[in-house]
This record gives sequence, C-alpha cells and structure tokens, in this order.
Amino acid sequence: MEARPPQVSGTVQIKPEREQSLRRKHPWIFSGSVLHASPGIQDGDWVAITNTRNERLAYGHFQKGSITIRVLSFGPEAPSASFWEDRLRMAQGHRDLLGFHKSSTNAYRLIHGEGDGLPGLIIDFYNGVFVVQSHSVGMHRDRQDIATALKRHFGDSLKAIYYKSTLDQSQEEYLAGLSASPHIIEEYGNRFLVDWEQGQKTGFFLDQRENRRLLGSFAAGKRVLNTFCYSGGFSVYALNQGATLVESVDASEGAIELTRRNLELNGHSAEQHGCFAEDTFKFLELRKASHDVIVLDPPAFAKHKDARHQAVKGYQRLNTAAMKSINPNGILFTFSCSQVVDRQLFYDTIVSAAHQSGRTIRCLYHLSQPPDHPVSLFHPEGEYLKGLVLLVE
Ligand code: SAH
Repeated sequence: MEARPPQVSGTVQIKPEREQSLRRKHPWIFSGSVLHASPGIQDGDWVAITNTRNERLAYGHFQKGSITIRVLSFGPEAPSASFWEDRLRMAQGHRDLLGFHKSSTNAYRLIHGEGDGLPGLIIDFYNGVFVVQSHSVGMHRDRQDIATALKRHFGDSLKAIYYKSTLDQSQEEYLAGLSASPHIIEEYGNRFLVDWEQGQKTGFFLDQRENRRLLGSFAAGKRVLNTFCYSGGFSVYALNQGATLVESVDASEGAIELTRRNLELNGHSAEQHGCFAEDTFKFLELRKASHDVIVLDPPAFAKHKDARHQAVKGYQRLNTAAMKSINPNGILFTFSCSQVVDRQLFYDTIVSAAHQSGRTIRCLYHLSQPPDHPVSLFHPEGEYLKGLVLLVE
C-alpha cells in the first residue's frame, strides 16, 4: 500500500484583505474572499490558495458554498505522500499525551475536524474499530487514502474501518476488515454496545464521557430522568452508581431499544428502569413524575444562524418545564450542542428559563466537550458542546 500525495488540481486566489485570516490559521475560506478560481475546479478537489502576488499560502478542499475552501495545510509547501499518516500520527500522539491509550476507556475520538487540523473529517476509535465520517466532498473523495494511512499507522491493532458519509448514506462501507456491529466498548467501568452501522453519527456520543461520569457521582439513591437518551449513556452511569430508579426518554424507538440493551449489558433489571419512546416536551408536560436528577441533552436545535431564535425558544421551554418539575434540591444537567448558540447565549437562555420557572437556582458546574474533541484557538467555532449543572432549590 503505497501512499500517494494529494493531487492539487487548481488554484484559488483570495482578496488581499482576507490574507490576514489565513495567516492567523483560520481554516475556512468563505465564498466572499475568493477573487479568482482556476477553471474546471470540481467539488472535492485539492486546491492551492494564493494571494494577488501568486504566492502560495495554503492548500485545502474546494467545495462550492458559503465555506468554499476547508484548509488542510498552511504554508507554501504542497502536501506530501505522508500527509494523512503525519496527521494521524500527530492526533494519536496528542491522545497518548492525554493517556487515552492506557486509560479506563477503549473508545475515543481520534480526529475531531478542525480541532485536529482536518476540517470535514471525524474518526472515532471503538476498541480496535475506526469509524470514519466525512462532512465534505473532499474527505469523501479521499476516504481510501485516509484508510490506507490508518492501516499503515495502526497495523495489526486495527480490526476494521467503517466509512460513513453525512452527504450520501448509500456510501457506507467497510474499507478494511469486517466487524459485526454492534461492538462492545468500555468507559470508566461502564459497558456499551456501539452500533455504527445502524446508529446515529458514528454510533456513540463520546463527547459526553466526562459529563456522564460527573452525573454518576450525583446518582446514588436518586431518581433520575434521562431525556434525549439515545443509547442510554447517562442512564447506564446512573444505575451503575446506585440510582434507585432511572427513566429514559427518546423520540426514536431504535434509540430506546439500544438503551434497553445497554442496561441489560450492565446487569440491570427492567424494574429499576423505565424506557419511553416519546417526545421529551410531551413527557415533561404530561407525566407527573418525581425526579431528583434530570438530564436534558437535546440534538442541535439550530444548525444555522437563521434558526437561532427558534432554538433559543426551544431551550427555554424545555428548561422551564424541567425546572418546574424537578424535586426540591434537584440537580439539573442541561446541554446545548448547537454551534450557533454560544456559551453566553445558552447561559442567558437558562437564566431566563429559571425566572419563568419560579424556582431558586444555583450553577454548580460549567461543562464542555472532552479533550479528545479539541478546539483550535484559531477556530473558536469548534467549541460546540455547552452544559450547566444546576441546583434547583
Ligand atoms: N444523551 C445522548 C445523546 C443525545 S443525541 C448520549 O449521551 O448518548 C439526541 C437524541 O435526541 C437522539 O437520540 C434523538 O433521537 C433524540 N430526540 C430528538 N428529538 C427528540 C424529542 N423531541 N424528544 C425526545 N428525543 C428526541
């Protein structure tokens, strides 16, 4: 398996006033920054980015749209044959530095898009299996080269590579090995089935690992409600740490089935646990349940700026309902993963929900994404997961 250098197919010249953003290592070139593109460039092509003096400044994937180029390599040097492997080595080196190779979890994110210098690419590692997800045409087209680099770098320790695309679901396939999904992983002594073939995203929400652990520390003797539960991550931690009752809610039947199987895998009987394939808003409104701990982890309510206002209203309604219903001295874990709702806006929204609930509320923790989901300081947009732990008197 010889690695080959990325083929640079054209040149995009940018406006002089936009050069600064590139020199500051921001990895996106917006359509408004483009002065001239060489003819025939196709979506997914590697292009060189030049200034008006025709100096090469960087290289990246071209794709028509608001973000026209996702920058993969800064500086005048064209990417070499070892480009992909170098990036994987660097990312794995950072995870090693954090202790992931010898810690009590055998699942972590290896490549987190811009945070690892590879916009458009996600790679999650599940106990020997790599799940590669592309978010751009360029990454989709480069999938075989990425798989070659994974095989070269990880050698025999690699059991399989499963490829998923966010652009076209018919493109899902194994690029190496064959591994029956679901597959069991372990996280701080909690076991989970990960189903990358049928599941959402890459199969599991690794980004909530540290937050699940914190929730576990509050769970003993408590009645816990886990809404938007997906495969039951928070539910498993709560029961493993001695919650007396856990109720899990998700609108998807498939997600609820995964939650059931994960609870079984951890040795919990159905009596300690209620599973509801329901809408969370309806659940909070209609069921007069009593809970000491509530988790609200909805999907991104806003994917674009134009949807921000609606999203804020959604967060407000959801949080007000949970604040009203939680038991005295209850603990509320509330999250937002909408990139366009920043930390301050989320906080302000929660304050406003608190006013509406009529309860007295203190903030105990500000939560974020874990270090295997790094944020480049030059790309603050990469910080997407925001959470608060609240004590509701
Ligand atoms: N907390 C989960 C991840 C949540 S992902 C974990 O730690 O693994 C968001 C989930 O919300 C998805 O499973 C989706 O099916 C579910 N969902 C979306 N809209 C919903 C709604 N209105 N009510 C309940 N669940 C919903």
